[in-house]
Amino acid sequence: MTRTISILGSTGSIGKQALEVIDGLPGKFSIFALAAGNNIELLKQQITKYKPQVVSVGTEELALELEKEVKNVKVLQGQEGLKQIAGDSQNEVLLVAVTGLNGLEPTIYAIENGIDIALANKETLVSAGSIVTGLAKEKNVNIIPVDSEHSAIYQCIGGKNSAINKIILTASGGPFRTSSIKQINNADVETTLAHPKWSMGSKITVDSATLMNKGLEVIEAHWLFSLDYKDIEVIIHPQSIVHGAVEFIDGSVISQMGLPSMHIPIQFAITYPEKFTGIKTGSLDLTQISRLDFEKPDLNRFPCLEMAYEAGKNGGTYPAALNAVNEEAVYAFLKGKIKLTDIAKIVSKALEQHENIPDPSFKDIMEVDKYSRKIVSEYLLSKL
Ligand code: MN
Repeated sequence: MTRTISILGSTGSIGKQALEVIDGLPGKFSIFALAAGNNIELLKQQITKYKPQVVSVGTEELALELEKEVKNVKVLQGQEGLKQIAGDSQNEVLLVAVTGLNGLEPTIYAIENGIDIALANKETLVSAGSIVTGLAKEKNVNIIPVDSEHSAIYQCIGGKNSAINKIILTASGGPFRTSSIKQINNADVETTLAHPKWSMGSKITVDSATLMNKGLEVIEAHWLFSLDYKDIEVIIHPQSIVHGAVEFIDGSVISQMGLPSMHIPIQFAITYPEKFTGIKTGSLDLTQISRLDFEKPDLNRFPCLEMAYEAGKNGGTYPAALNAVNEEAVYAFLKGKIKLTDIAKIVSKALEQHENIPDPSFKDIMEVDKYSRKIVSEYLLSKL
């Protein structure tokens, strides 16, 4: 097998790990294109090493700067660049690992062109799940999740969503799993970003600390596996060894386990349905781990989880609003403008005021996204 792949978000956390996975599978992949945001130093190294035909960067300025320094590679820019790369029929699989709603349009383009998607961008399914999964079905395109919990569920069911009673998504609980409300209220950025189990980008690490990440994953799972929200359960599992489990209608439960490394779900998604040895993430020694703990999530300390369930159940544009408001609030927290616990307050207020559009179009979703981000800045101004 040699599979032609493009990576959107090649200089981010998932993108870099995907290239490590590809390094561990010599001859299996040919890289058509790489897209980065503003880290052109790293992108230049990636161009030298992987020799893509096309690259894309965040802005025109960066594209002009890069063009002067590289040869034999076409340089694109912005959202247009992502779309051009995504829709190119040379791709056999597209890894979507950009953050935020930037991933949505390129994903739609790729699906329209029959290209399989390895999806690391959960916002795409949270905000526009019905559009994306509907189109994938119509075009007979696989969406293989890179998110470790969803990869776990996918592996447990072998791609066939039949006879499922419920699924269980596990959460490590983040850095504040055992903290009091007061401690969470006073949490600084540094402690919040010190995730005990997973090394990830800063936005998702904050989401893990508030459990919003798990909430977004519940909505992601609803669309990926066509399940009712009542059949998606979240449990806290601090060791992060069991990534997900499926209970079938006969009561049998199958779970997927592994050391907490993103290399495994990334490799699963980009090589699906084949399996290879790949890079060594180490072998899981259960006797070394010796115990696996499971707890119910505490919705008092982590209200974001319940808000995400509510937004998902309400449907329409509620999840798009939730996603956009949360993202803006997280950035405000990372800039030191608000407290960690303000994120939930802002999301709650925005959802209360949200005017839902049932069965939204792509345009509706983009407008809700834009509007929701705007009201967060208004909230922040009114506070000051
Ligand atoms: Mn996850």
